[in-house]
Amino acid sequence: MKILVANIGSTSLKWRLFDCSSAPERLLHKGGFERVTDYPKAIEDCLGELKAGGHIQQDSDLAAVGFKTVVAKGVSGCVALTEEVLGAMEAFNAIAPAHNPPYITGIRLFAKRMPAVPLIGLFETAFYQWAPEAGVRYAVPQAWYEAGVRRWGFHGASHKFIAERSAELLGRPDVAERARNLYVDGGATAVQGAPLRVISCHLGGSSSITGIRNGVAVGNSLGFSPQSGLPHNNRVGDLDSFAIPFVMRTLGLSIDEVERQLCKEGGLKGISGVSNDIRDIQTAAAGGNAQAKLALDVFFHSARHWIGAYLLELNGADAIVFTAGIGENRPELRAALCQGLDQLGILLDPVANEKVRAVEGVISSPESRVKLLVIPTNEELVVARETKRLLDRK
Ligand code: AMP
Repeated sequence: MKILVANIGSTSLKWRLFDCSSAPERLLHKGGFERVTDYPKAIEDCLGELKAGGHIQQDSDLAAVGFKTVVAKGVSGCVALTEEVLGAMEAFNAIAPAHNPPYITGIRLFAKRMPAVPLIGLFETAFYQWAPEAGVRYAVPQAWYEAGVRRWGFHGASHKFIAERSAELLGRPDVAERARNLYVDGGATAVQGAPLRVISCHLGGSSSITGIRNGVAVGNSLGFSPQSGLPHNNRVGDLDSFAIPFVMRTLGLSIDEVERQLCKEGGLKGISGVSNDIRDIQTAAAGGNAQAKLALDVFFHSARHWIGAYLLELNGADAIVFTAGIGENRPELRAALCQGLDQLGILLDPVANEKVRAVEGVISSPESRVKLLVIPTNEELVVARETKRLLDRK
């Protein structure tokens, strides 16, 4: 069973092809195009590459195409991408303006190109469907809530991967099984023993932190939109909502300009004035740039704030996991995040930490009560797995 996972950006198409016939799934091919101006041609070229490489003979060799869709009104989980679902995504375009419109356009083009191949979406909000109501509700008027103003949570594919893989690494196959089955049985898979408490830190161009109890998320630092939580590369992160009418009145900004600046001029780039890549900011900070140093400090402060929130909510943690571009590759930033937490039983092993880059590994010292782990995430694999499960159920 071959499943293509397509990652659609406004000017990019990236893909991975998995053979999901038997466990473990095999990655057969990955590729992509940047600066796409002709999307139908990009899809054609993608299929051409798969055929030229001998991975498929014809389109119908694909059991499905899976997409890491973001958010839709009244729809979450893993679903067939019907016109009704695409309409529900359209209804929430304003929540994810950089993601939903290109996905909707791209999915419609795939549907036109290969009408007989099932197109399946795994929504980024899916992992938070079982989070406690008090944790997802903003204190807004009921009408706002009914319109969709609530904490949705994002990065669901990544945090679900961490939930499953961390449980395996921590010797809890029962919890791994529960995480694996979550979208099929809603967390009904039985677990034995003490609850497994994991804090998953997805730190990259876009960052979020999630608390996970027994394989099920209790919340996510991303809220109503992917603009919240930690500061991102060039997106703002958490902000008091009253700042928006304030800058509109005080600086004379239009709502469109406010939206643009929140998405493009904020975050690490906004504070540092240097770059939206944390490596450039680190270099500038090391060279004495005070704003760059401040950007890093704001990032650490926010990350520790969210780790702290989930430490309390989970009544401690068995493990804190680092993943994504920064979490997997930047030992010095992991060290800064874990500094001075010995009273919480969090002790980093500096030697192990230096060694673990872009691979799985334990970076806590043997005395640490809380295990510190690095786990490279694999969002596309989660999309492929859930797509297969949906096909199997049908
Ligand atoms: P992501 O969004 O997960 O691709 O992460 C991108 C972020 O990770 C950027 O801010 C990069 O600066 C940062 N990063 C740091 N080191 C690396 C690395 N070796 N490879 C890729 N990204 C890195």
